[in-house]
Amino acid sequence: MPMDRVEYGQWFEGVRSFVWDTLSRYVEDIERTERAPVRELIPLFARHRLWGCLVPEDYGGLGLTVAQYVPVLIELSKLHAGLRGFLHAHNSTSVLLKWGTEEQKRCYLPGVAAGEIQLAFALTEPNAGTGVDIKTTARREGEHYVLNGQKHLISNCDVADYITVVCYTDRSKGRDGISVLLLPKDAPGFAWQPNRPTMGCKGFTHGRLTFTDCRVPCENLIGGVEGRGIVHALTSLEESRVFIASTSLGTAERAFELSLQYAKKRVTFGKPIAEREGVRGYLAEMAIDIHALRNMLADAIDKIDRGLPVPAEAAMCKLFGAEAVCRVTERALLVHGGVGYTSAFPIEQLYRDARINLLEEGTPTIQKTVIARTFLDGATLGPYPWEQA
Ligand SMILES: Cc1cc2nc3c(=O)[nH]c(=O)nc-3n(C[C@H](O)[C@H](O)[C@H](O)COP(=O)(O)OP(=O)(O)OC[C@H]3O[C@@H](n4cnc5c(N)ncnc54)[C@H](O)[C@@H]3O)c2cc1C
Repeated sequence: MPMDRVEYGQWFEGVRSFVWDTLSRYVEDIERTERAPVRELIPLFARHRLWGCLVPEDYGGLGLTVAQYVPVLIELSKLHAGLRGFLHAHNSTSVLLKWGTEEQKRCYLPGVAAGEIQLAFALTEPNAGTGVDIKTTARREGEHYVLNGQKHLISNCDVADYITVVCYTDRSKGRDGISVLLLPKDAPGFAWQPNRPTMGCKGFTHGRLTFTDCRVPCENLIGGVEGRGIVHALTSLEESRVFIASTSLGTAERAFELSLQYAKKRVTFGKPIAEREGVRGYLAEMAIDIHALRNMLADAIDKIDRGLPVPAEAAMCKLFGAEAVCRVTERALLVHGGVGYTSAFPIEQLYRDARINLLEEGTPTIQKTVIARTFLDGATLGPYPWEQA
């Protein structure tokens, strides 16, 4: 049961205040030191039950619909991509949520929802691509899998208690030989080190993981069946791409709001720059991108909440959103002029933050591959939305 409207409204107002009254106080330090006090932040997020947004109530979470969760990401990404990514990495490890056995869900989800168990998701590898192009393997030996390989750029790997690792349990079967293991952080043979600092999305750790004959109990095979990993990973990515599109929207909306305010205030040659046609053009282009993204998102979110698969819709709004927020933050920088390039204005941070959205959950060429494949396989654009109403 989704949270009822009134209860949700009250809860979300609390989240909004938390973002702007509490979290906003951390941003300057995070940007300056490139470190976030993650251990201090975990209980603060827990107070608003944010670790359990997507966990069903039966397992101790809020059981929000996607339409109810997305505003949280939008609000956080208006403030800071690192803080948004901190929550996203945890809440998007939906592999366990969607595909875990009942026993696995009962064992882990209450702790996940309370923030007592932190999660990370490990797909990307330094010496391979993504999807089926992975090299990490897990060989079964008695009651354990023996994991070997490397991952990199894995968000939250410093705080994660468990990491969902996508690997081959049987290489000879191609994509049907991929599985997902829930790796306990203290498993023998596991080591990690931080990747170098990032352009934006600052303060949180993205790390390189090494598995050397790393022993993972067989009971930690997600879903209890080998060879379902590609389905697990792709369905999780589908929803997660919509979450990244939502963060593009949040960052773009803040850049737009700041640009409107600045354009009215900044006077050159005796007039506010908002009166110049060129500047109005930038503002109009920003509004168009934001409006289009809102509508694409509305469609994808509605379909997910109705239980429909959205491979093309998710990839389209993830790709469009990422490119739109890059355009919007570029125009925001131009509206602000030289001061926008300094850290005295939030545009400088939003501009850098926006660019992670091109990469997270797959690059533009990968989204195009997914979109084209879906239509070549027979999907259609469907009826016009106004005909359905
Ligand atoms: C801050 C940050 C956090 C991240 N967090 C996580 C995380 O928590 N978990 C995780 O698993 N990953 C994470 N990633 C990794 C991210 O998902 C990948 O970087 C991204 O998907 C791109 O993969 P890649 O780096 O291997 O790029 P590459 O595959 O090396 O791609 C390089 C270029 O080649 C193109 N290309 C590559 N292969 C093809 C192809 N087959 N067809 C067409 N074009 C192709 C790409 O589109 C891109 O333009 C994170 C990355 C960053 C920067």
